Amino acid sequence: MTKRVVVVGGGIAGLAAAQRLLERGLDVVLVDRGERTGGKLRTGTLAGGPVEQGAESFLMAGPDGGPSAAVRLAGAAGLAGAVVHPTPARAAVAIDGGLRELPSGTLMGIPLAEDPGVPDVSSDAPLLPPGGDLTVGELVRPRRGDAVVDHYVEPLLGGVYAGRADRLSLRMALPKLAAAAERSHTLTEALRSAVAAPASRGPVFGTIEGGMSRLTDAVTAALPDVRLGSTVRELRRHGAGWRLTVGSTHDPGFLDADGVVLAVPAAPAARLLSTVEGLAGVPLEYASVALVALALPATKLPELSGFLVPATEGFAVKAVTFFDQKWAHLHRPGVTLLRASVGRHGDEQQLQRTDENLVALVRHELAVLLGVDALPDPVAGAVYRWGGALPQYTPNHQDRVRTLRETLRRHPAIAVAGAAYDGVGIPACITSGWAAADAVLEGLGE
Ligand SMILES: Cc1cc2nc3c(=O)[nH]c(=O)nc-3n(C[C@H](O)[C@H](O)[C@H](O)COP(=O)(O)OP(=O)(O)OC[C@H]3O[C@@H](n4cnc5c(N)ncnc54)[C@H](O)[C@@H]3O)c2cc1C
Repeated sequence: MTKRVVVVGGGIAGLAAAQRLLERGLDVVLVDRGERTGGKLRTGTLAGGPVEQGAESFLMAGPDGGPSAAVRLAGAAGLAGAVVHPTPARAAVAIDGGLRELPSGTLMGIPLAEDPGVPDVSSDAPLLPPGGDLTVGELVRPRRGDAVVDHYVEPLLGGVYAGRADRLSLRMALPKLAAAAERSHTLTEALRSAVAAPASRGPVFGTIEGGMSRLTDAVTAALPDVRLGSTVRELRRHGAGWRLTVGSTHDPGFLDADGVVLAVPAAPAARLLSTVEGLAGVPLEYASVALVALALPATKLPELSGFLVPATEGFAVKAVTFFDQKWAHLHRPGVTLLRASVGRHGDEQQLQRTDENLVALVRHELAVLLGVDALPDPVAGAVYRWGGALPQYTPNHQDRVRTLRETLRRHPAIAVAGAAYDGVGIPACITSGWAAADAVLEGLGE
């Protein structure tokens, strides 16, 4: 009989897992508590055009320099021709009341060249023991100075994690640099070695014309059994497999499966694992963000793709994307589309504001940052809130994930996937989903 696998969570990781399980001939049921699949990939409309409410783009190349998992998934979903790339417009950083272009010759804002003012002392032992970890700040502050971290590294990391350089795991945020640090005695040597790894040619980022939801909708459409508006509340061992409790507490339903993929954030995953004897999730904090999208009447903006705002500058806004200058396919006559993001880990009080208040704050701060009296009245505006959305990996996160996976192997066909474990980026989440599917297939002896 065909074995059944339930994938809990229809974000990009769960979709990737379901796609692979289906491809291998299993009976796949995808369950998500939301009203649509995609999780943090969600395209809406603003002023009559598409706007990303969550993730906007993906890396084109994978760690080996070949096409990233996102490019491969888009290809498998028939969307290879829909992948488009940003314009050459560059990003800037707001420092001391002005917009400065992001310097080139850096890795995540860390200058490759040594700063004569901050000697990069050579240590007897390599910077990192094998498998060791520390925070990005711990590695970079003593060797490149606080200004580099506060002005460039932290805002760039903030753009991805809404997180702090002094808390984030080097191994998760900059895995190539962590690997190079195991062989290097200075940061300069480690950086050179990290950037010397196979570089791919061509554009660094891509997105899907028409929106990221086209990708998740296409993968979803190929799945035979997708159950939306269904929260999985409990997981128990049942015979040789699993029983999941789905739905409201007054009217629960049961779903039996030979295998399970949990592709949900860390907290719901931990809750589900806690009802299985001997299992526990990984502890992980998340940052919340709000995105404010504004469609302005055609407005002249600096010729940039957008800019980052270091926390040290004292604004609530941490980044702004000039959508139609960054993406040519989003350009529409008469409209200027931008999206600002607010919210940093540990400093979320700005997010308590009402939507109206948040829009007013963003308009005021953008005017100050752009050095104009006021922004024109928007034709349309919207606030997209992502509570507890961005994982804050602290050092040794990978070790905690490895331990969880070793424990899971002692149970019938069960695997975890997604940003809680293997990295926040879309390609990393897809790879994580595929690996979870492979682990479950192995557990089922398929
Ligand atoms: C605002 C924002 C912008 C981003 N921008 C980018 C970007 O430009 N590029 C990039 O690469 N990455 C970006 N990211 C990160 C990336 O989007 C995410 O890390 C990734 O999409 C996470 O995918 P996932 O499948 O692991 O989890 P999720 O997308 O969180 O999916 C989990 C799913 O599980 C469901 N679920 C939860 N609990 C249950 C339950 N008990 N029962 C049933 N279903 C449940 C949820 O409804 C959800 O659909 C961004 C993230 C955010 C928040």
